[in-house]
Amino acid sequence: MSTTKYYLWTVGCQMNKADSEKLAAGFDRLGLKATDRIERADIVVLNTCSVRQHAEDRAYSKLGRIRDLKKQKPDLKVAVMGCMVGLKTDELEKRFPQVDVFARPQQFGPIMELVEGPHEDLGGEFWPSTYAIPEGPAAYVPIVHGCNKFCTYCIVPYRRGREKSRPMDEIVREVNYLARNGVREVTLLGQTVEAYGHDLESQPDLGDLMREVSAIERIARIRFLTSYPKDMTHRILEAVAELPKVMECFSLPVQAGSGAVLESMRRGYTVGEYREKIAEVRKLMPGAGITTDIIVGYPGETEADFEETCALLEELRFDKVHVAAYSPRPGTIAWRKMPDDVPPGEKARRLHRVEAIEARISQEINDTYVGTVQEILIEGIRGEQAFGRTRTGKLVHLDIPARVGSLINASIVHAGPFSLRGVEPNALDLV
Ligand code: SAM
Ligand code: SF4
Repeated sequence: MSTTKYYLWTVGCQMNKADSEKLAAGFDRLGLKATDRIERADIVVLNTCSVRQHAEDRAYSKLGRIRDLKKQKPDLKVAVMGCMVGLKTDELEKRFPQVDVFARPQQFGPIMELVEGPHEDLGGEFWPSTYAIPEGPAAYVPIVHGCNKFCTYCIVPYRRGREKSRPMDEIVREVNYLARNGVREVTLLGQTVEAYGHDLESQPDLGDLMREVSAIERIARIRFLTSYPKDMTHRILEAVAELPKVMECFSLPVQAGSGAVLESMRRGYTVGEYREKIAEVRKLMPGAGITTDIIVGYPGETEADFEETCALLEELRFDKVHVAAYSPRPGTIAWRKMPDDVPPGEKARRLHRVEAIEARISQEINDTYVGTVQEILIEGIRGEQAFGRTRTGKLVHLDIPARVGSLINASIVHAGPFSLRGVEPNALDLV
């Protein structure tokens, strides 16, 4: 019998990517082979995202292609997993009869039904003992699943469920495995990563976990995302500042610069409190890399509200801004209670305005790196050039021969809005 081939397609956040890597490791353990050609696959898995309509549309177009494929190949097995799948699947089943199995995020069990023949049980919720096979020196490690926050616009809590932390020993075991397999940097993941531990018996916090992970010798760097301003305590920030392996790199979404919009979003903090949080980070770690997320065109966002967002971006000067136009998500509080009243053209205008502000500020911040020496973890080689990241998360292309997984010092000689260029420190004066 020929080996069963699987095709795994992933969109969305780092958590989705981590889920797919784990599923692939599970398939590999069962002797299946990955293919990047959908028409060669026996099993197709789409790991979907629902955060915005655009991401769902991509899955729909893939499902159209699969419907045609299945006509030619009736034995093809198809699973849809991830945030497109809610508690009830009857609507989806009616709409997409070409799909054999629908599975919620991290619900790997039902997908295994597609694998024919006897196979080992990969065990328990979240497959705690099946680890993703690292693809390079940097790896994602989910530490807390789900979200309890219910921001009015967001589908995540409905699809990923409530916050559920993984036991600390289980995470440490996984990081040890990754370290033995060449990983030097781990990114600890959660939708609200500082929520880690409150539901565990001994109630550890993110700082406690970072201390444990820091003790793993071969791990050189630790990152964490996504931060939720209200959950980011002074105790956690002190741990980040204190632990040399933890990078000075923050993903701290603000979403809007208007108090009225933040309140309507039910974010749970004021603009002033957010400002104080950023000040605290910068006081403890001057020069920390900080990125944020912004939604433009949220229901009821006036021109004055939007101007407050622009002013906040000018004031706080983020390294990167991920901006999205508001997309109504069926089932959310905003979808039920608030008309999507900012016209599409106006949303696009606001989005471009934020992009222009961020491009200018990113360039200005990146310019300040020119002439400095930065520690870079080499993540890969493209063509002849190595590339990696600084401790603040900046992408650097290097004119230095370097080994993937090594930590090197480089002098930054050029800055663009998205990346830097580095050379050997002592070569600086030759450029
Ligand atoms: N947990 C993080 C937080 O507290 O901001 C973010 C997680 S969310 C999955 C990722 C980003 O998607 C959000 O920061 C937000 O900017 C964007 N997003 C979520 N729902 C959205 C919607 N309905 N329309 C547009 N963007 C949305
Ligand atoms: Fe969504 Fe808010 Fe939870 Fe972030 S904190 S995942 S935006 S509900």
